[in-house]
Amino acid sequence: MSKNDPKYDFQDNRIVNVASGEKVPEDEPVFVFLARDVHTMDLLRAYGRRVKDPYHQKTVQNRIDVFEQWQRDNPGKMKEPDTQPAEDSDVIKCEDCGDPVEGEGDVCDSCFDERVIADEDDTQS
Ligand SMILES: [Zn+2]
Repeated sequence: MSKNDPKYDFQDNRIVNVASGEKVPEDEPVFVFLARDVHTMDLLRAYGRRVKDPYHQKTVQNRIDVFEQWQRDNPGKMKEPDTQPAEDSDVIKCEDCGDPVEGEGDVCDSCFDERVIADEDDTQS
């Protein structure tokens, strides 16, 4: 069973409020917190204390319960958040500069262009 927030789902690469059917506007920022993040519970509890609508309060508490259960079940997965790609991540790093490579190939677009220019220089000299 999915442990995602039941209020939202993904449709056509957009986040959608399942209850209302509203798509989150593309220009509206979204921030995702995972249960593995050691700071997430502080944020969820603080948010729950500020919410005024009792029904939404209950929904937030339900989410807190799900997060706490996951954290009890997965203590080894808890971590200080960072933005480093995981060691076993599928992200391919450019052979020349180390930036993530988008699409096919061993080098990023700008390093690929530099290699083509270097090859052209070689053939011309
Ligand atoms: Zn590169």
